This record gives sequence, C-alpha cells and structure tokens, in this order.
Amino acid sequence: MTFEVREFPEFSWSFSRHKTMLTCARKYGYEYYMGHNGWLYDVEESVKHAYRLKKLTNLPMAFGQIVHELAERAVKLFLKHGHVMTQVDLIEEGRAMLNRAYIDSRDRKQLWMQKPARYKMLYDMYYEGELNRMEAEEYRGRLPIVFANLLASRSFQDITKRPQTMQFQQAEEFRFMTIDGVKIFVVMDLLYRDIEADKWVIVDWKTGKETEDDRSQLALYAYYIMQKYNAGIDEIEIRNEYVLTGVHRVYQLTETDIERMLSKMKQSVHIMRRYQLDMISNEPVDLDEFPRTKYEQRCEKCNHKEICLAQP
Ligand code: SF4
Repeated sequence: MTFEVREFPEFSWSFSRHKTMLTCARKYGYEYYMGHNGWLYDVEESVKHAYRLKKLTNLPMAFGQIVHELAERAVKLFLKHGHVMTQVDLIEEGRAMLNRAYIDSRDRKQLWMQKPARYKMLYDMYYEGELNRMEAEEYRGRLPIVFANLLASRSFQDITKRPQTMQFQQAEEFRFMTIDGVKIFVVMDLLYRDIEADKWVIVDWKTGKETEDDRSQLALYAYYIMQKYNAGIDEIEIRNEYVLTGVHRVYQLTETDIERMLSKMKQSVHIMRRYQLDMISNEPVDLDEFPRTKYEQRCEKCNHKEICLAQP
C-alpha cells in the first residue's frame, strides 16, 4: 500500500470535526490543518508538535476507546469462533489496556514524541505530571459495570442468542458517503440486518451520559444505510446502548429527522468553508484567522494550550 503525501489535508466532514469547530475555531485549525503531515520525519517541528498534541488523550476518552475496542473484539470472537468472552476476560483486558496507557505516559514519553500514534499519552500526565487519583480509581471501578452491561445488553444478547436470524455486515473501517461533493465519515460500532424483524439495526455503544446529539448522530448513520442499501427509514432501527447505566434506547427516525440532520450538516460545512483559502486543495487560511474561543475556561483542558497560549 502506498501513501500519498498531500500538501494539505483532504476536506471531509464528521461529527467530531463539527464539535471541535464549535468548541474553538483555533483548536479546529490546529487539529485539522496545522498538524497535517506531522507524522512524517522531515517536516517542521511546529507541525510535529501540533500533531502530537492532537494525539493526547484523557481518561474518559481512553476508557471509551478501550470499551469500544473490547466490544468489537467480543462480537468478532463470537461471530468467528462462537466464543463468548466473559465479564472476567473483559475486565482483565480492560485493566491491562488502561495500565498500558498509564505506563506509556509515565515511562515512554520519548517514544511517544517520536511516534505519537503508536504510544499513549494521557493529558494529565503530560501537563500535570500525574493522574488525578480519584478519577483514575473511578474509571477502574467502572470496568466491571460497563462489561456486565455490555454482555447483558439487548444487542449483545440478540447476537449471541439468535445469530441465525441476523446478517452481519463486513466491518468496513472507513465507511463514508459523499454529500454535495463532501466526503462524510460514518463510524458505526455495529451494523446488522435482523431478518426476523426485517430491519437494519445500527448499534452505538455509549460509555458516557446521554446527550442531545446522540439522536442526530444516528440520523447520519441511518441516512448512510438509506443511500447504500436503498432502505426506507421505517426499515432502520437505531439503538444507543448506554453501558455505564445499562439503559437502552431505540429510535425510529422520521424523514424530518433526516432533513434536520442534513441541513445541520450543510450549515456546518458552510462555516468550515470560511477557513479554506482554496476549496479544491483545502489550503487553509492563516492560523490567525481561526478565532480563539471567547470562553477562556475551555483553554484549561485544551490539548493545544501549550502552543496556543504561547502565541500573541
Ligand atoms: S487554548 Fe483555548 S483558544 Fe487556544 S486552541 Fe485551545 S481552546 Fe482554543
């Protein structure tokens, strides 16, 4: 596989990109433009620096990533070998992964500086030199809860109890569609066709609290299924499995939800276009033209504060 080195990043849209832009346009500039090519050996140190800071993670994010990775592994192991991972297996793996993130952050800073995508660096370890002990304990304590809820969830039970009535879609790492010429990334945790219910089921594992955005994020996934498989909106069931609380939400979307989501997405793309000097190459405007947020408290927990606050 060959990698093309692009002078500027490809323009695409995703929910996380949208959220970053709303949080702070300057942060958006650092994350989506200034660190581009920062993984290459022979680029300026400032580019590598912005790229490294983008890769900083924090405990809630690392925790969410671990739970998602293990949920995917548990589903795959069952589908491939009929093996159901136990809560004990999952907790052990989850603990080991959390510990690895801590040890990388404490002992492998130099390696992370060279290869920030391969090693983990926790935000508190980077900026404060230590973890918040209470928070670390809190997350360790959540492992048994989330894995018990994951195994008992309706989606996991459906998969393991009646797999013969389901068709699983190949996991495509990078699902995307194009709307008005813009590439839109669609990252679904699990997608299958329930033959018994005659529905497409989209599952999203959630490790945090319920938010207003959850529904519109799923509307984007539903739109993808409508486009790709020519499905009607009433043939799609979307589910949020909140593994911390064990709550399970099922939504039946309407055409209005889809229209609302599309209009929100187009509006967001329109705002993002302000930061492009060239729409084709996606060359950005100068960093100064990405305004800093006026809510200064957001800077306290921002990955990029080290470079941003040092600039006039
Ligand atoms: S430090 Fe503040 S102003 Fe700078 S990028 Fe972060 S949030 Fe924006």
